[in-house]
Amino acid sequence: MLILGIIIAVAVPKFIALNNETAQARCAAERSAINSALIITYNTLNLRDPANANWLLLVHYEDLNDTMFTGRRIPTCPDGGIYTIVNGEVECSIHGK
Ligand SMILES: [Zn+2]
Repeated sequence: MLILGIIIAVAVPKFIALNNETAQARCAAERSAINSALIITYNTLNLRDPANANWLLLVHYEDLNDTMFTGRRIPTCPDGGIYTIVNGEVECSIHGK
């Protein structure tokens, strides 16, 4: 019984740490997908139109739509973090930039 307790005491924290790392990596991939979509969308805008000049700096997460992700869902944090886009860079309320 003592050995089982020791195994659980070692394995459970490692399992939790591994799960946290996985969620963090998945969140980073989701943020990266958003950043790519922002750059691609920005490059399709008519930048001679002054209304579009600062689009990348002013865009918000709420402005994203699934056509920017070729029909895929809009990326979200696997841990339920809230994404905000500040000066064209996506930040997660849980995992940061
Ligand atoms: Zn996140």
